[in-house]
Amino acid sequence: CGIVGIVGRAFVADHLIEALRRLEYRGYDSAGIATLERGRLVRRRAEGKLANLAMSLRDEPLGGSIGIGHTRWATHGRPNETNAHPHATARLAVVHNGIIENFRELKAELQGFGIRFESETDTEVVAQLVSREMDQGLGPEEAVAACLPRLHGAFALGFIFSGYDDLLVGARHGAPLAIGFGEVEAGIGEIYLGSDALALAPFTEEITYLEEGDWAVLSRAGAVIHDIDGGLVERPRQRIVAQA
Ligand code: GLU
Repeated sequence: CGIVGIVGRAFVADHLIEALRRLEYRGYDSAGIATLERGRLVRRRAEGKLANLAMSLRDEPLGGSIGIGHTRWATHGRPNETNAHPHATARLAVVHNGIIENFRELKAELQGFGIRFESETDTEVVAQLVSREMDQGLGPEEAVAACLPRLHGAFALGFIFSGYDDLLVGARHGAPLAIGFGEVEAGIGEIYLGSDALALAPFTEEITYLEEGDWAVLSRAGAVIHDIDGGLVERPRQRIVAQA
């Protein structure tokens, strides 16, 4: 239901929660975040209110200066912790808004390769599909690009990858997604991804909306945006008035 992503300079968990809080008005049944602690993927999820997730993080914080977060409005699979996003494999974690209409076919195909699923969601096929492309030798960006044409339905996606401390990939297909440009200090920038510019308002004044079919590679150095055919494109930056 709501997606956020941050490639930052300091610990991002608190900012992920703050951004998710701004999406609460949309309604949700569970929430979660994933970050990289010294390159290693770590994840925390909780059923119910964002406060449950925030409390769990207060008791046992997650470190990491890159991360993704999600508030879920279940479409496939009960609203519980196992079905909450991010969904993950050893290689990556993903958050998803929308529906993957052909997930049953994709799941059956992946199960045919011996891949086991832990959740009942449509989203987990995205995690497993991209992971499998990486098993076959593709890099993270290429693996996402290879999988996007296989996903039918309406979705916005955000990925981080084990061992890649400066890489966040987002994709937009039938559900909105925006990039936010944060402060640059000593030549190092911060960059944000969000399903709603409102979520990013506390952190950025400049955003770019991805257009239909776009996918983007985000790092502290900036954003590289590809259109549906893979070509590099420029999308306009806009100022947002916010900080409320
Ligand atoms: N279809 C996905 C699920 O049920 C994502 C739902 C959402 O947009 O929150 O987990």
